[in-house]
Amino acid sequence: MDPLLAGDLAAFPELLQATRDYATRLLLGINERAVARDPGTLSPAPLPFDGVGAAGALALFGERWAPGFSGSAGPRYLGFVTGGATPAALAGDWLTGTLDQNGSNRSGSSSADLEDETVGWLRDMFHLGQDFTGTFVSGATMSNTVGLAIGREWLGEQLGVEVARQGVGALGPVTVLSGTPHSSVVKALSMLGIGRDALRLVPTLDGREAVDVAALASVLDELGGRPAIVVANAGTVNTVDFDDLRAIASLRSRYPFWLHVDAAFGAFAALSPSHSHLVDGLDLADSVCVDLHKWLNVPYDSAVQFTRRRDLQVRVFQNAAAYLGDPGPNPDHVHLTPENSRRLRALAAWFTLAAYGVDGHREIVVRDISAAQLLGERLAAMPGVELLSPVRLNVVCFTFSGDVGRAVQAIAESGEAFLTPTVYRGVPALRAAFSNWRTSREDVERVVEVLRKHLV
Ligand SMILES: *Cc1c(COP(=O)(O)O)cnc(C)c1O
Repeated sequence: MDPLLAGDLAAFPELLQATRDYATRLLLGINERAVARDPGTLSPAPLPFDGVGAAGALALFGERWAPGFSGSAGPRYLGFVTGGATPAALAGDWLTGTLDQNGSNRSGSSSADLEDETVGWLRDMFHLGQDFTGTFVSGATMSNTVGLAIGREWLGEQLGVEVARQGVGALGPVTVLSGTPHSSVVKALSMLGIGRDALRLVPTLDGREAVDVAALASVLDELGGRPAIVVANAGTVNTVDFDDLRAIASLRSRYPFWLHVDAAFGAFAALSPSHSHLVDGLDLADSVCVDLHKWLNVPYDSAVQFTRRRDLQVRVFQNAAAYLGDPGPNPDHVHLTPENSRRLRALAAWFTLAAYGVDGHREIVVRDISAAQLLGERLAAMPGVELLSPVRLNVVCFTFSGDVGRAVQAIAESGEAFLTPTVYRGVPALRAAFSNWRTSREDVERVVEVLRKHLV
């Protein structure tokens, strides 16, 4: 054995302790750590031929890289939709690496069953029926991709072709309809060979990002009975608007379509008694995307995809090799997603659900929503600031009379908060998205102080 490696093996306990101590210092400092950092310009070091051992690597990381890392896991990082990691989720993530299971198959380990148990818990938490099955993927982009791939196979079933064998060309032109889809849906269409141009944007309700269901019905009507894919959105990124899922689903009695719902973070509205109506009808979907590294607060990379047509899913993703065996009624995960070998990402989600339960996660969701409402109230009272939509859930989308780009940068440079810019209905705007498990009202007041300084 290489002497450095042998030394690390001998000193494994001390090494883990040192890593733990280092992680503890990082975590205890996260509230005061600069929320965002100037990435700077570290040029890549040459490939090391003589290593420095794990303790040396830890020191090197601490000197060279850690200072430039953001405090995105902390309570005042309000960019994009970004979660942190609950204590239990982090523990689960550490153990994921420790046990290093290959979540691709069921042979020789119960780890795949843990994934199934976790998917079942999530299915119940989001009130999806027992006929939904699911699997873990790396993020909502991949969850949307898998859902749309199953929808693509369903189109084939309607048209009497098998896309998995014959290719997407056998379908002829495909129509995908959506009001305000996330960019990842468009990317998925490119990856799936359906093509970005297959997307037809359907008008939204006046002043809203939610689709106009009557307009959707008339576009479906124009298709003259040709099956389509509808992507409904449960939580848009700018204004967190929700399509009327029940009304959309009811159109299936008149028109044939696969209903995919992108509920990446909006699904968590189901946990808040005053917001659960927003996802009413989610269980009527054919496939559902839910991100977990956002509002469940597990570390990256983690999301879940659900569907009621596992048979079609296996048709798409079956990894046909003699040594992998027949998928059978309880297929290995290797037959369910684009991946083959995969990390047991379910473990972090299992830990946080086991630790805090639905009620603990409900508390996080409700607290984040009230943080967004508080920020919304404070901003509405600031001169020159305008909210671009009501605060429907956990995002505040607003503009002000000054230069948005400059404000975003100045806020980031303050180290106190991080917001991301957007353009909403042609208006340059800022978004503050709340999805971290730590965020308190005091954090909101700290953010308000920073915004007061920079929104001028
Ligand atoms: C974040 C998000 C995605 C993409 O999620 P990733 O996990 O970054 O791939 C897709 N849809 C919606 C609505 C999102 O908010």
